[in-house]
Amino acid sequence: MDRRPADSDSAAARGWTPEELAAPLLAWFDRHGRTDLPWQRPATPYRVWVSEIMLQQTQVAVVIPYFDRFMARFPTLAELAAAPLDEVLHLWSGLGYYARARNLHRAARWLRDEQGSAFPEDLDLVQALPGVGRSTAGAILSLALGQRHPILDGNVKRVLARCFAVPGWPGRRPVLDRLWALAEAGTPSRRVAAYNQGIMDLGATVCTRSAPACDLCPLADRCRARLLGQPTTFPMPKPRRSRPGRSCQLLVIRDPGGRILLERRPPIGLWGGLWSLPEAEPGVDPDLWCRTRLGVGIALVETGATRYHDFSHFRLEIRPLLTVLRDEPATLADDDRYGWYDPLDPPRLGLAAPIARILADWSAIRDPAEPSVDNERGAHR
Ligand code: SF4
Repeated sequence: MDRRPADSDSAAARGWTPEELAAPLLAWFDRHGRTDLPWQRPATPYRVWVSEIMLQQTQVAVVIPYFDRFMARFPTLAELAAAPLDEVLHLWSGLGYYARARNLHRAARWLRDEQGSAFPEDLDLVQALPGVGRSTAGAILSLALGQRHPILDGNVKRVLARCFAVPGWPGRRPVLDRLWALAEAGTPSRRVAAYNQGIMDLGATVCTRSAPACDLCPLADRCRARLLGQPTTFPMPKPRRSRPGRSCQLLVIRDPGGRILLERRPPIGLWGGLWSLPEAEPGVDPDLWCRTRLGVGIALVETGATRYHDFSHFRLEIRPLLTVLRDEPATLADDDRYGWYDPLDPPRLGLAAPIARILADWSAIRDPAEPSVDNERGAHR
């Protein structure tokens, strides 16, 4: 006598095995997958590499214009390697996570010097490039060259965690190992590029984070999370911890000609290598600061609107201090570290997004003595 539960024979109750994902996913990809993304035409390793780095933490729609501008300026790896870092950061400005741009540039120079500007075709070599992890390396080589490698970006983690009702937060090693095992087993040996693109597309467009469209999903019949009636509980979120706050005071120093002083950040740390506004310790005397470095005092100081910027691990409170110099500065001490930003002829520099917004606001005021755009003003003198 068969003692198995009555429904255990049904495919639905059994759920998918990872090896069974490919057929329905490929059929879905052929009808609904994305085949006209800029980095797919042509999908060279260099172009896919740049796109995959940009797509880390960033959505496709945001990346597309950045990718197009980047490729227009750096159509080859050799041209990227030859460019100054400032220009790369300039084209990255607004995309965030600037370590990605610095790593891309460093890797391009290494590939030029060590590999004759040829992009490697070996997974270990690709994974050894700065900023490239296992999933990104697999994506580059599978999407560009059709090599069989699994991928596990955020979209793929979500689809697999739901299909197989994998409990736990994917940031935990045992959960991640389980997802990698499923990704490895599910990756077919043929049409790998289509499969990998398909499972990413499914996660991005159907199996979305908060509103999965299970009715449209090719995996719905046997998706464990859907059968449990709770698709959005997988994957489980990161355990909550409150985000600490930090604050900084930035000097917006404008000369009589309207230029604004910039300071290059140290290569490591917050906005590493980007141009920013000079940071001043709390209580610093801006007049003394300007006399010491620029040889001229200031005629006006006011407090600009406080801004907030969220990083992954903390929230930064930015308090701009708006100042105008009495005269043109005679000298600019340490001019590797400092430079001028002319709003009428903006230099091609890497600027963090909140800095670019402060510059835009302050640049829009023609006469600094006029009321500024701030809403938390307090005259200092
Ligand atoms: S059935 Fe729903 S939860 Fe399951 S993979 Fe498809 S969209 Fe995601």
